Amino acid sequence: MSGNLGYSDTPVLADSGFHVHDGERPQPKVISPGVTGTPTSIGVPPCDAVVLFDGTSLDGWLDKNGAPATWLVQDGYLQVSPGTGDIRTAAEFGDCHLHLEFASPEVVKGDGQGRGNSGVFLMGQYEIQVLDCYQNPTYPDGTTGGIYGQYPPLVNACRKPGEWQTYDIIWTAPKFEGEALVTPAYVTVLLNGVVLHYHKALLGPTQHRNLAQYVPHAPVGPLKLQDHGDLVRFRNIWYRPTGQYDVV
Ligand code: MG
Repeated sequence: MSGNLGYSDTPVLADSGFHVHDGERPQPKVISPGVTGTPTSIGVPPCDAVVLFDGTSLDGWLDKNGAPATWLVQDGYLQVSPGTGDIRTAAEFGDCHLHLEFASPEVVKGDGQGRGNSGVFLMGQYEIQVLDCYQNPTYPDGTTGGIYGQYPPLVNACRKPGEWQTYDIIWTAPKFEGEALVTPAYVTVLLNGVVLHYHKALLGPTQHRNLAQYVPHAPVGPLKLQDHGDLVRFRNIWYRPTGQYDVV
């Protein structure tokens, strides 16, 4: 590298201390961005992602009792084993971009909340709904991609049962000082590349038939997947920590 890539005679940005167009500011890290999954092909994580499920084993996943998880793993995916309970990662993390792919059962059974129900729980307690809402009406805040019990998704962007779908969830953990909530959790959710929520403030941990209310907790938590009795499949589960881009 030769010479200054930018400018040092420009005004200084108050929050970072760098000049506008500062050539000395640290470069964004170069990564290989991976490949996005489609209904017929599995995605590839970015090279620096933390892979939570790579299609081969449930290593690093625990059942409701803290024992190794026992959901079915086959053909590169993970499937709910009804009646065994929710599973969660041993790993705990906070602010992140979480990606996963899921498919509703190809054999359609039940209706409303009884069709292809599962859930993605950030920090083990904030649910983004997983449901088969293809031609299956239900209460709006329980629709696929809904912040369950709080906010319906902006649109219903569901694919047909059996087709793989993608979730990209950008999560900001709530912040507490003692018993006080300083900032709520925020979430941006894309289903199949379509924005369902943009920087939406959550009201608190997920409740069923009740109002949410924050209770202080650690800045990190596990990812939990819900056993709601339906044969929902998951694959290509990874996250990247966020809040690390303005490296100085
Ligand atoms: Mg659910």
